[in-house]
Amino acid sequence: MKYITILGSTGSIGTQTLDVVRSNKDIKVVALGAGSNIKLLEQQIREFKPEVVSVWDEEKAKQLKENIQDLDTKVVSGMEGLIEISTIETVEIVVTAIVGMIGIRPTISAILAGKHIALANKETLVTAGHIIMPLAKEKNVKILPVDSEHSAIFQCLNGENEKEIDKILLTASGGPFRNFTREQMKHVQVEHALKHPNWSMGRKITIDSSTMINKGLEVMEAKWLFDVDFDNIEVVVQPQSVIHSMVQFVDGGIMAQLGTPDMRLPIQYALYYPERRYLGGDRIDFASLGQLTFEKPNMENFRGLQLAYEAGRKGGNAPTIFNAANEKAVELFLDRKIAYLEIPEMIEECMKQLQFRNNPSVEEILTTEQETYEFIKERWQ
Ligand code: NDP
Ligand code: MG
Repeated sequence: MKYITILGSTGSIGTQTLDVVRSNKDIKVVALGAGSNIKLLEQQIREFKPEVVSVWDEEKAKQLKENIQDLDTKVVSGMEGLIEISTIETVEIVVTAIVGMIGIRPTISAILAGKHIALANKETLVTAGHIIMPLAKEKNVKILPVDSEHSAIFQCLNGENEKEIDKILLTASGGPFRNFTREQMKHVQVEHALKHPNWSMGRKITIDSSTMINKGLEVMEAKWLFDVDFDNIEVVVQPQSVIHSMVQFVDGGIMAQLGTPDMRLPIQYALYYPERRYLGGDRIDFASLGQLTFEKPNMENFRGLQLAYEAGRKGGNAPTIFNAANEKAVELFLDRKIAYLEIPEMIEECMKQLQFRNNPSVEEILTTEQETYEFIKERWQ
C-alpha cells in the first residue's frame, strides 16, 4: 500500500491524481488539501475517505465540517492545515498540485518530515529551488517530477549518469499563438488564451503556456531538478506535443520520451517510480501521425521566455520577482484589466525596479513576493 497526501486535490492535476488512485487499488489517500472548492472536496472525501482534509479558507472549512458531520474526516485550515497534512506520519508521498508560491512552506515541511515529493507545483522550485534541492538531498527524499517535460527527462535519465548530460532539450507546443505576428498578439483576448491546442490544464498554467512563460518556468525547474546550466537547456518547439522532452548526452546520443498528451502518465510514474504500471488511454499511431515538426522559439514575440532565462541566470530572488510579477499579471489579464502583451512588460519592469537579494531565505522569498505585488499595485492598479 502507498500512503499519499494530495495538496490541491480539486485542481486539474489533483483530480487526475485521483483518477490514477481510482485505477490502482494499492494507493490510500490519507489527506487532501484544497483552496475553496468544498463542493468537489466533499465528493472526494465521500469517495476516498481521507483521515484529514485541509481547506485554505477558514469559513469554507467551517461549512465543510458541518456538511460532513456524518463522517470521521477531520477538517483543518490555513497554512497550519496545509503543513499538518503534509507531515502526517503514515504518509510516504506528498503530491504538490497546488498552484503558486503558497506551495513553498508545505513542501519544505514535507521534506523535513522525510516525505517524497511528487512535484507539480513548479513555482516552488522556481523560487526556492536553492533551498529545496539541497534539503531533499540531506533528508534523502526524492523529488519526483510530475510536470510532463521533467517527467520525460527523468524517464530518459533512467539508468544514465547525470554527469554525461550534454544538453536538455525541453520541448514546447508553442501554444495557440505560435504563428501570430506581434500585431495579432496585441489583440489577444482571455478566451483565446484559455484555449490550449493540445493540453487541458488549470487557468493560470494555460495562460502561461500561451505566453511561453510556462516554458520559462520549466527551464528554471529543469535547472534545479537536473543540475544543468542554463546554457545547456534549449527550448525546442514541437507543435504536436508528442515528444515530451529529450536529453542529449556527451556522445551525441539523444533519448526522447514520447506519448499522447495525458498527465496521468507522469503522475502515475512519479507515484510508482521506478515501476511502470498499465495505464489505459490512446496510444500513438505513428502512421496516422505522419510527421513531427520542430521550430526555434520566437524570443521576440514570447519575450517572457527570454526574461525567464535572464531571471534564472541572475539567480537570487530574480526568479521570485519574475514569478510573482507573472502571477499578478496573469490575474489582471484574466480579470480583463490589462492587455495580453502587458504581461511580459510588467515582469520586465518589476525585474528592473525591485531590489535584488542573493541567496534568499524563505522569508526573503515571501517578502519579495509581497514587494512585487505592492509595486504592481502602486504602478498599475
Ligand atoms: P488548478 O488551478 O487546476 O488547481 C489548483 C489547485 O490548488 C486547486 O485544487 C486549488 O483549490 C488549490 N489551491 C489554490 N490555492 C490554494 C490555497 N491557498 N490553499 C490550498 N489549496 C489551494 O491548477 P493545476 O492543477 O493546473 O496546476 C497545479 C500546479 O501544477 C501548478 O503549479 C502548475 O504549474 C502545475 N502543473 C500543472 C499541469 C497541468 O497539466 N495542469 C502540468 C504541469 C504542471 P480550489 O480549486 O479548491 O480553490
Ligand atoms: Mg509542462
